[in-house]
Amino acid sequence: MSNRLKCRRTDDGDTTIIRLDGVIDEETDLESLAVNLRPTVRFDLERVTRINSFGVREWINMVQSLGERHNLEFTRCSVPVVEQLNMISNFFGGGTVVSFYAPYICPNCDGGEVEMLLTTEEVVSNRSGMDAPPRKCPSCGGAMEFDDVEMEYFLFLECGETHGVS
Ligand SMILES: [Zn+2]
Repeated sequence: MSNRLKCRRTDDGDTTIIRLDGVIDEETDLESLAVNLRPTVRFDLERVTRINSFGVREWINMVQSLGERHNLEFTRCSVPVVEQLNMISNFFGGGTVVSFYAPYICPNCDGGEVEMLLTTEEVVSNRSGMDAPPRKCPSCGGAMEFDDVEMEYFLFLECGETHGVS
């Protein structure tokens, strides 16, 4: 059960990149991450596998206090992260979700669900009918189908963001 969250940090110009890997829970020391950060903090959440309720509370505290002094960006959010985002409106404070994973399935292959990386921009610019952007199957090259309810999975793009077009 050595599922402890691993953190890797890189500073690059005005940006601190923090990659998290594993489970965010009561074992996670998020406060120690928040030291000497650059003006922009970009979290890479590709490898976050689970966040329990204790972890969610810690996470929100951290994001809110960091958001007062830093630009926060969240990239490559894993499917479990998107699920939290959709349940908890202030999960990313005032930060920006740059990209995230979404489940797709190929009707031609038996490969099961494949998680594909989407950018917020392509989903938002393609939102005529809240359609998931097209993706090709990595095995057969055929068109894949989105494997969730679009209205629910993309819910987090509706709130927080400031595209007040209607
Ligand atoms: Zn296929």
